[in-house]
Amino acid sequence: MSDEKAQRKLPTLESLVTLCKRRGFIFQSSEIYGGYAGFFDYGPLGAELKKNIKDAWWRAMVHERDEIVGIDSTIIMHPEIWRASGHVEGFNDPMVDCRESKKRYRADQLFFSPVKVDGNVIGYVSVEESGTMQAEAGEKANELKRKQAVQGTLEAIELKEYTEASPEEYALIPSPATGKPGSLTPPRQFNLMFETQVGPLADASSKSYLRPETAQGIFQNFKNVVDTGRVKIPFGIAQIGKAFRNEITPRNFIFRSREFEQMEIEYFIDPDEETWPRVYQEWIETCKQWLYSIGIPEDMVGEDVHPQEKLSHYSKGTTDLTFTFPFGTQELWGIACRGNFDLGQHQKHSGKSMEFFDEARKEKYIPHVVEPSLGVDRTLLAVLTAAYCEDEVPNDKGVPETRTVLKFHPSIAPFKAAVFPLLKNKEELVGTARELYRKLQRRWNVAWDVGGAIGRRYRRQDEIGTPFCITIDFDTIEKDQTVTIRDRDTTEQVRIHLDEVEAWLSERIYA
Ligand code: ATP
Repeated sequence: MSDEKAQRKLPTLESLVTLCKRRGFIFQSSEIYGGYAGFFDYGPLGAELKKNIKDAWWRAMVHERDEIVGIDSTIIMHPEIWRASGHVEGFNDPMVDCRESKKRYRADQLFFSPVKVDGNVIGYVSVEESGTMQAEAGEKANELKRKQAVQGTLEAIELKEYTEASPEEYALIPSPATGKPGSLTPPRQFNLMFETQVGPLADASSKSYLRPETAQGIFQNFKNVVDTGRVKIPFGIAQIGKAFRNEITPRNFIFRSREFEQMEIEYFIDPDEETWPRVYQEWIETCKQWLYSIGIPEDMVGEDVHPQEKLSHYSKGTTDLTFTFPFGTQELWGIACRGNFDLGQHQKHSGKSMEFFDEARKEKYIPHVVEPSLGVDRTLLAVLTAAYCEDEVPNDKGVPETRTVLKFHPSIAPFKAAVFPLLKNKEELVGTARELYRKLQRRWNVAWDVGGAIGRRYRRQDEIGTPFCITIDFDTIEKDQTVTIRDRDTTEQVRIHLDEVEAWLSERIYA
């Protein structure tokens, strides 16, 4: 473990949710009607942060690369697309119901183990997937043994997914909700796509779907981009947009929701066997570097390489970049080598050729694809987790005080800077500050605050992650036109000339 990781104190999810609500980053959707599970709204600061993340991604993946172009396709598409892609048939999660508590679980996130004492099974325990489930199951096993007053040594708990249980075991595994066996159903497949009707007649022929991923919008436009975009293999098509999944158990705030945004690239390559392993590794590296560039620390990012036997038949390899969230290490970004499965399927179902004529090789082929797929909301949660910090700084009177600070990378911070006139009722101070504020506003989102002591204003900006606070004081207007700029993370202050502020900020925002 690196020193940084050893020292890092993760915030609780609770503290992030509370801060997000209190400062207007994220709200539960439909709150005045009691909320709506799996749906979230972004408030003024959250909308800025989200936009900055998307802009940073688009800049790095589309604008700064010659061979990647962007598109924006519709959310509702021809339903045949979802039959071709395999989503109608197979975009399922296994679901389990507890008949007694009416709680619903994903069978692949529900784990169980027989409890054995000296080789004899005395019952079963079950737990929901979490970083602490082994310990939780151990406690439940102890409890079971104590209740049954069994003597002897408890054997190690071996957790298995509920999907692997035998029909006899379904009746013996207790529901995590009630602790009692007999109420859990066997797993059933549940399709995650939201259905809708297109057109005035609600019958089978008008059935359509909200897209569960943005990727198919890219594949169905492959020919259009090839015919109009002057692209040569290798090239990529990128898209940012909403996706919808009727998740069985939306949870962990914006980590798993029913409406979310994705940033996806389909990177089309030569089908030969040498190309994909190299491009796959390059994408893994590119994706990591991008995460670091928006301020996600290296030690919070990991790699989870999917074992060969868990890959779908067409897949050559999948690696998830993981992130250490407050509730455990989980997938943030999936990088998958999908062969030519998707284009091949669309060729079959649409009857239109998806072949590409490779000028260099004088050959036609259906390109293969490497797909880096990232959730905007999950990235935002990762950014919040990494940025959240509580530390001690001296207040106006020099007394140490605990502050909450979001240490966002300046390039994605909702406000790049805040401008304060030292006093709100001194016209010359306010006028000069206002002028600077207007000037900076032409380039960035900048905050204006005249209320309360400077120390209080600093605290407010710290809590929403504004990296720089600029104060106009009497020296500015009476002496030498210099201003104070205070750094959020170090709390150190420098004085620079008014005319230099924009260049000074620019250097740090894009560092
Ligand atoms: P999981 O196994 O967690 O359900 P997945 O492997 O099905 O996810 P993908 O289909 O690979 O996810 O989706 C690509 C990316 O989209 C994920 O890495 C994640 O960042 C994001 N994503 C997927 N589902 C959700 C969701 N319900 N809420 C928020 N983001 C999501």
